[in-house]
Amino acid sequence: MKIICIGRNYVAHAKELGNEVPTEPVIFLKPDTALLKNNDPFYYPGFSKDIHHEVELVLRISREGKNIEPQFAHKYFDQVGLGIDFTARDLQTKAKSKGLPWDLAKGFNGSAPVSKFIKAEEIENRENINFKLLVNGEERQNGNTQNMLFKFGDIISYISKFILLKTGDLIFTGTPEGVSAVNIGDRLEGYIEDQKMLDFEVK
Ligand code: MG
Repeated sequence: MKIICIGRNYVAHAKELGNEVPTEPVIFLKPDTALLKNNDPFYYPGFSKDIHHEVELVLRISREGKNIEPQFAHKYFDQVGLGIDFTARDLQTKAKSKGLPWDLAKGFNGSAPVSKFIKAEEIENRENINFKLLVNGEERQNGNTQNMLFKFGDIISYISKFILLKTGDLIFTGTPEGVSAVNIGDRLEGYIEDQKMLDFEVK
């Protein structure tokens, strides 16, 4: 399986990092070794001093597809979960300043904690899903899919022009504003609506 991520998909987040609002989805990948499941702890890596949380809704692809039209994209995912796109912001900033790829800043071991999944059919309105992240009990990020620049259908359609989607692939759909640093000892709790999806520690 592969993990495909969208960057800068919420205007307020693009602006908080000083980035332009994109006219096409910004895509990057994480290797399968980035996956962290079952609320396992995240071990703070020694190569960074500025790991940021980015809470994101995650789609699970349920059938193979390429060149998918946006209006048919809902047929290609069956589950929605919550994930953290952990980012070594110091490494990413350095790479961006040199025009180099972000791979190591985004794709290191454990950089993609993912929750259990909810059946997509159980979600009434996918254009209006609330999700949030608490750190040590305090709300840090709060998003709603209404504010996505590129909706689920647009994202799947765009990616599938370039990359064959396969069953089990995960798509991180972008983070709202409020990204900030995590520290050893922090407890991260993530919710979709009122349902607790993630609860793990930084060690
Ligand atoms: Mg992200």
